Amino acid sequence: MVSGTAVVTMRQALFISIATVVAVCSTMGIEPPGPQKRLEAIGATNERVGVYSFARYDPAFYGEPRGKDYPALLLQRSIKVLTHETGHMFGLTHCIYFHCVMNGSNHLQESDRRPLHLCPVCLRKLQFSVGFDVVKRYEALARFYRQMGLEDEAAWVGRRLEKIRRSACN
Ligand SMILES: [Zn+2]
Ligand SMILES: [Zn+2]
Repeated sequence: MVSGTAVVTMRQALFISIATVVAVCSTMGIEPPGPQKRLEAIGATNERVGVYSFARYDPAFYGEPRGKDYPALLLQRSIKVLTHETGHMFGLTHCIYFHCVMNGSNHLQESDRRPLHLCPVCLRKLQFSVGFDVVKRYEALARFYRQMGLEDEAAWVGRRLEKIRRSACN
């Protein structure tokens, strides 16, 4: 377990002024600093520092057997929480507009239902905050998803790219 005090110490130790964000990932559980029962991440949004735990995404954390799809499931859940919390670190709040990785969630099932991608509203907010070329971002994401074996996500990004390129021709 990582305590709230340890998180503060890590934050102080890891804050690097030239870094845009600092993310600390752990397979240990995080001890909630408040009354919450479930915690995968602690983020200091203003300082762009976050600590993430993937422990609760592993059925073994609850003493349950791991299914055969466990590595893919753990990867997808980990990428999702990292994307969501990094979004917060770049100033994005919970999305109420579309089905989006920035939707809030109160339990694992709700989190699993979130897609891995940003909706158009949050994509535009992130682009405003960070500044990037949407096509280049999608191309990089497609390569990453293919490397990771996330074929559904790669296909989704491919469809977005196709739509953008088609609309640019009109
Ligand atoms: Zn959130
Ligand atoms: Zn959104």
